[in-house]
Amino acid sequence: MRSRHRPALRPPRSPLPFRAPLRRRPPQLLSPQTPSSWPAQRSTRRQDVPLPEAWKAQLPKEQHEWLSRALFRRNKDGRPVLIDSLQLWWHPPAPRPVFHQPPASPAPFFTRPFFLWMPYRIWSFRLLCRQPNCHRAGQRLTSCGLYKTVRRVLDIDGWYFMATEYLECRLCKKKVAGWSRDVLEQLDPAHRAEFPAILTYRLSCDLKVVRLMRQRSLGNSVSMLYNKLREQHSETWMARTLQYLAVCDRFQVPGADARQVAPPPAMVPVPSPQWLLTVHAEDVRARIGEMKARVTSIFGSVLKMDSTKKVTKKLAGAVARTMAWATNVGNEHGQVLMPMRVMGCCPWRRG
Ligand SMILES: [Zn+2]
Repeated sequence: MRSRHRPALRPPRSPLPFRAPLRRRPPQLLSPQTPSSWPAQRSTRRQDVPLPEAWKAQLPKEQHEWLSRALFRRNKDGRPVLIDSLQLWWHPPAPRPVFHQPPASPAPFFTRPFFLWMPYRIWSFRLLCRQPNCHRAGQRLTSCGLYKTVRRVLDIDGWYFMATEYLECRLCKKKVAGWSRDVLEQLDPAHRAEFPAILTYRLSCDLKVVRLMRQRSLGNSVSMLYNKLREQHSETWMARTLQYLAVCDRFQVPGADARQVAPPPAMVPVPSPQWLLTVHAEDVRARIGEMKARVTSIFGSVLKMDSTKKVTKKLAGAVARTMAWATNVGNEHGQVLMPMRVMGCCPWRRG
């Protein structure tokens, strides 16, 4: 019975928070800055492996070739399957330093990174179905392939793409994506922190961009961030276009007809400031516990009291006339009294 009710998230002292990987190499965590090796250089057999149709329909053309080479192999039946040694981040190869013939397409100059979020497959995490009956029974989620949707994630100087696994409960047949809140909430903080983005209905936003909005003050508006992002995206796209056209230009023969050059892909526009504000609101919602904890640390002596009446009664003698109390924010730990405007001296700040 103990094992049936054991939570997926083990305490830190447990040596193995997940089951031991079977017939699999130890998981490799690569930082976003660490470029992945380029499997095409190791094996040319992967060159003709197609991407899954759903991915192909959603990813831009320039991502197809390098991703299919890096991530997929053919199984015995000739169908494309993921390779065994998976990692989170996949970085595309840089364009060749020297071209001996004109580039067939602008694709090598416009590739973007790819993030593969598979907590079950990569880390062998013990994930439970969140349906009440299944959760009570300790029913685990198992893999049922790749999730069809590929996410486009807004980064500082461009976009990257993100895919995940599809997980299934064999008891209630419910399926969830690997990046759903049900799954993310079951991970320990260290692995949860590896997930790099905030997801909204259509697009997604990298946390590097989200953090830029946290210090909201005069002059740090979403409009300014939008303008900065647009400049960064434009500069990056322009630099890549220049590289591509410079290579093409080397193969133009003076006096001969101009060689046809495939146009570079259009720059994907940066989402509106309103969308950025939506992402910021979602970030605040996700960190509300942390923000309340900060209030606790500042007004610790007040928060230890459990009712507004006690607080106002205690403060009545000294500062009751000089304070405008805003509201009480209820949370699971009690109540937080938030002074909006303090005109006099605060008794708890007198050293
Ligand atoms: Zn279930």
